[in-house]
Amino acid sequence: VAEIHDVRRDRLRAVLVARGIDALLVSSLVNVRYLSGFVGSNAGLLVPAEAGRPVVLATDGRYAEAAQLACPDLEVLLERDTAPGLAALAAQRGLRRLAYESHDLTVDQFRAVQEASGDVERVPGERAVEALRAVKDVEEVSALRAACAAADAAFADVLVLIRPGVTELALAADLEARMRLHGSQAPSFETIVATGPHAAVPHHRPTDRPVADGDFVKLDFGATVDGYHSDMTRTVVVGEPEAWQREIYEVVRAAQQAGVDAVAEGVLTADVDRASRGVVERAGWGERFLHGLGHGVGLEIHEAPALGSGSPGVLAAGMVITVEPGVYLAGRGGVRIEDTLVVPPAGAAAERLTLTPRDLLVL
Ligand code: ZN
Ligand code: ZN
Repeated sequence: VAEIHDVRRDRLRAVLVARGIDALLVSSLVNVRYLSGFVGSNAGLLVPAEAGRPVVLATDGRYAEAAQLACPDLEVLLERDTAPGLAALAAQRGLRRLAYESHDLTVDQFRAVQEASGDVERVPGERAVEALRAVKDVEEVSALRAACAAADAAFADVLVLIRPGVTELALAADLEARMRLHGSQAPSFETIVATGPHAAVPHHRPTDRPVADGDFVKLDFGATVDGYHSDMTRTVVVGEPEAWQREIYEVVRAAQQAGVDAVAEGVLTADVDRASRGVVERAGWGERFLHGLGHGVGLEIHEAPALGSGSPGVLAAGMVITVEPGVYLAGRGGVRIEDTLVVPPAGAAAERLTLTPRDLLVL
């Protein structure tokens, strides 16, 4: 496992060298985990561009032993204020051009880093680690696959509970408990269970509203395995669906398939959005598709790349993304269908990691 982090740091070093940067001060805990394997609530990492120089993991005394165990090949600096501690070390060691994670440091932390590193030149890191994280390695895909499998299994367990009278909060609690029993460490995000008119709210928070006959029930949830998230949405109908329900369900199902079919190496993210959104627009519901098509998933539930009409960027093989079109009719209900999938190498079809069927389920 130590090897994989070294491979990742090598990829980062190449980026730093190309940009003429002497070292990156990593303050994002997720990025620290990605590059070192260390998991804790207070940590930082100094990665020099030059391969021969030591990589330094900073954390506080609570994690002294854990840091040694997780990262035997790294130098450990015990320091409560990790970012300025590493910045001072960079200055001491003659690293003259220091990149920092401007999207992560607070203003106070940045001031402390400035003070600690004196006349070192400081430059924004431009999300260098996030860009690397967008393309997953084999270990990451297997963790993501396991997270998706836990969510699939939990959904199958919970289906029998979706019936008139059960509340959104109770269903959310059951889903989360079942995910844990299937190997999830924690929910990926606040589980969404939206019944009836609530299904028209894309990110509804569960309430004590009970399921009623004729409701759409939209469930958006994820499991976490080894820090990696899954993300899936399914929408079911309780009781015999009305014509409008069948209609918008079929439109969203077709739009989701069109989006998945458009996923390929080298395709613009905006074009995947367009392929899916076009199906919704041609059916006349374009105005009711209220969000972007999807997002990258990994150590964070939302990460690079974004898939929206205005998103820049190109898909690369090994990216793990969601495709999640929706149609939302205020006061009536809504449908979203979302899968997590892997961008395939040239010539292959995208692989869904969430495998729950997508046909309209009438409960
Ligand atoms: Zn989701
Ligand atoms: Zn999502």
